[in-house]
Amino acid sequence: MPDIIHLLPDSIANQIAAGEVVQRPASAVKELMENALDAAATSIKLFVKEAGKTLIQVVDNGAGMSETDARMSLERHATSKIRTADDLFRLRTMGFRGEALASIAAVSQFEMKTRQSHSDLGTQLLVDASEVKGQGPVACEKGTSISVKNLFFNIPARRNFLKSNPVEMRHIIEEFQRLALAHPEIAFSLQHDNELIYDLSPSKLSHRIVALFGKSFQEQLAPCQEETSLVKITGYIGRPESARKTRGEQFIFVNHRYIRNNYLNHAVTSAFEGLLPEGNFPFYVLFIEIDPKHIDVNVHPTKTEIKFDDERAVYGVVWAAVKQALGAHNLAPAIDFRSDINIVGKLNQSPTKEQYMDEQFSTALHRSNLQNWEKIFEGEAPQSRLFQNSDPESKVLRFESSLNQPDSAGLSKDEQAFFQFQQKYIVWPAKSGLMIIDQQAAHERVLFEKYIIRLKGNPGNSQQSLFPQTVTLSASDFALVMEVQQELVLLGFRFEVFGKNALLVTGIPVGVEASEKELFEGLLEQFKKNQSELQLPLRDNLALALARRSSVKSGQKLVQEEIKSIVEGLFACSKPNFSPDGRPTFFTFETSKIESYFTR
Ligand code: ADP
Ligand code: MG
Repeated sequence: MPDIIHLLPDSIANQIAAGEVVQRPASAVKELMENALDAAATSIKLFVKEAGKTLIQVVDNGAGMSETDARMSLERHATSKIRTADDLFRLRTMGFRGEALASIAAVSQFEMKTRQSHSDLGTQLLVDASEVKGQGPVACEKGTSISVKNLFFNIPARRNFLKSNPVEMRHIIEEFQRLALAHPEIAFSLQHDNELIYDLSPSKLSHRIVALFGKSFQEQLAPCQEETSLVKITGYIGRPESARKTRGEQFIFVNHRYIRNNYLNHAVTSAFEGLLPEGNFPFYVLFIEIDPKHIDVNVHPTKTEIKFDDERAVYGVVWAAVKQALGAHNLAPAIDFRSDINIVGKLNQSPTKEQYMDEQFSTALHRSNLQNWEKIFEGEAPQSRLFQNSDPESKVLRFESSLNQPDSAGLSKDEQAFFQFQQKYIVWPAKSGLMIIDQQAAHERVLFEKYIIRLKGNPGNSQQSLFPQTVTLSASDFALVMEVQQELVLLGFRFEVFGKNALLVTGIPVGVEASEKELFEGLLEQFKKNQSELQLPLRDNLALALARRSSVKSGQKLVQEEIKSIVEGLFACSKPNFSPDGRPTFFTFETSKIESYFTR
């Protein structure tokens, strides 16, 4: 038998590696911009066309490359950033794996122009799917300009897999925002097709935040600072009272690298505990500086996950920094934070990673149960399902249950039978017992099913605004709105694009009481939160977000009409037992149980 194993040609090996590094246009954006940062650029310009599908170009004024280096940079495992394995733990650069350019060039039509400051002429390189098509001297600016055209043109399966332009653009803007936040001292710009989306001059962090997320952030930021021998924390948190307006953007950077780390996010939210109304999310931009020897960045090719050798200690300092910021700025006057800022104390209290994971695991389990609950309850005809109503929008009651017999003692159509208890529950003497309904959970269920019906193509009515309001969004939120535009219209929103990243809201769904602006912003905020936590399908998420925003709240006094319409609506639902995110909506204190209390 002949031997059958052979080495893959570089072009194929690169293409395979590209699968890990380059998932979508935004990944190429990230790699190219990070290279510009590593080359000590002070100005980085990003140009994209068709959400990066036809062009991604990054122009920097950094160090540039020599002719040989330009050629070498496209080889796999070719890097100027590390030499030995030990260098991995002294890392100060964003890159080190030496595979980004090779991967990108394997799946695109790639063009590079680069010049070092001491050379008169630069070098140009043209590459098509790893194959060098041209190389030569060129007159160009100092620095590097890389154009990536028609990403995945040679892998149709990947290209077809790309999402719509608004979705891809949102990912690009997210990467751009992270890098621009991480380096306020550097000028950045982003142009999409022919529109200039961001033009950021070098500034302080607070100004950069405002430039990226909008003027409303100006008064909302509280500085955050804490230092121990292990780490230094700096940055800003959003004041608790502004949590809603800020739509909960949250960023943690470690040595100026954006990372995802739920354990550390937990440290921040737990410091905010009790200061935020339920359903509101804090804004924060925190920079953690730590000696690179205490972290491992080489966990994942995209480098957004890192390992700390003492994560619990970092948790404690992050928690303390946020507490301190909340206290120092009198954001929570009722609490004496001074005595609370005891990092060592907190260290002993802070959950270990294992405890945290356990907690997360049980919540995940809880959630996956929730995903099944609809199935679990499908077969069961709840004894309390008194109303059947095929049209949940209508308020007409149709009693189809045996309980609706004229002589059904104890059940009356008399609406006085319902009453509100502690402004949280609706109590209803039903035949089977005393039914206690959680007003908020029930109303969320009612609205959720109503919105789902609309999203299935039965548009809801819109109430026209007397005074249409403009809502200015961050570029990423704007992209998100464009992505779900159709669905928003089905729900009953009416709006038009009104200048850059701004909308003129001319109508909101009938029956929702809120200012246009508040509702719109709140909806996006809730949507994003659901997206990261529940990972629901888009329509369920939108319906849930709007239901949560517009339902009556626990603690709200209800008039008889409202009570009645919630109860009727609930039992007209196809799945009345639970709120859309799985909280029980009602509980029956059964007559027999009540009786048992009084029998000897
Ligand atoms: P890595 O960044 O992990 O080293 P890349 O494939 O991204 O790997 O880049 C390979 C090399 O090309 C870098 O190490 C750097 O020397 C050089 N390079 C890439 N982009 C630039 C740039 N914009 N300016 C200067 N040098 C660059
Ligand atoms: Mg790189």
